[in-house]
Amino acid sequence: MSSVEIFINGQFYPKADAKISVYDHGLLYGDGVFEGMRAYSGNVFRLAAHLDRLYESAKAIMLTIPMSREEMADAVRETLKHNSLSDAYIRLVVTRGAGSLGIDPTRTSNPQVIIIADHIELYPKELYENGLEIITAATIRNHPAALSPRIKSLNYLNNVMAKLEGKRAGCLEALMLNHRGEVAECTGDNIFILRRGKLITPPIDAGILEGITRNAVIELAQAAGMEVQEIPFTRYDIYVADECFLTGSAAEVIPVIKLDDRPIGDGTVGATTRQLSQAFHELVRKP
Ligand code: PMP
Repeated sequence: MSSVEIFINGQFYPKADAKISVYDHGLLYGDGVFEGMRAYSGNVFRLAAHLDRLYESAKAIMLTIPMSREEMADAVRETLKHNSLSDAYIRLVVTRGAGSLGIDPTRTSNPQVIIIADHIELYPKELYENGLEIITAATIRNHPAALSPRIKSLNYLNNVMAKLEGKRAGCLEALMLNHRGEVAECTGDNIFILRRGKLITPPIDAGILEGITRNAVIELAQAAGMEVQEIPFTRYDIYVADECFLTGSAAEVIPVIKLDDRPIGDGTVGATTRQLSQAFHELVRKP
């Protein structure tokens, strides 16, 4: 969409003119935080939860966002309105700002607040019907004591490395294990399995991003009377699971039918996955 206009620090710029400094530590060091969210029929799904995570990520890296939460919420809505979008993907980025060529974040100024509202198609439509095949990446998820995966930072190389492995194996997503060898998450999505009627997903302390879609799906499953467990598990549990799916703001709910060439369940999209996906789509469009 060529007509997209980007919000930078309170002003809108055509895509081609939306620029920040090459001295920005967001570029030089991946020093900054971001959010990815979606608007459905003009409403940003769980905007408050996304802003909580953004401000908490910023706090964890000692980055002061130069706007209040209320101003940020208004700016997100304003960006949608400005671009006449009601169904969109929204990328909110806050960089450390321009500084010297050394790492020192105290020698930077002017964090940049960037909001992009546009369309995204993470996976081809037919994969929502037929399911994804994924592989396990050799790259493990960042050790939480090195860089907490709970911080949604601009430094996504850990995930990029695993994504590359997936792509080289002919898969659009890749499973990442944690430093203990347990299942963590995929490169940009959380993971769920269904086993003997129970819905299971890794706990936050498995070293994952606490996905907002993940939390919504847990609530939907519980509301539908399902037992949900946030417990550690291994690849073996996925190999023998009945169903598997991934969640994310961009991905929404996408079925997984194969891991490491092993069909999950009977190798087709399961009924519970379909049920939760439908419930999710109903939830996001609720006024
Ligand atoms: N894990 C990672 C690593 C992510 O980047 C994301 C977001 N793309 C998710 C999980 C899903 O989080 P959410 O549902 O909040 O989009």
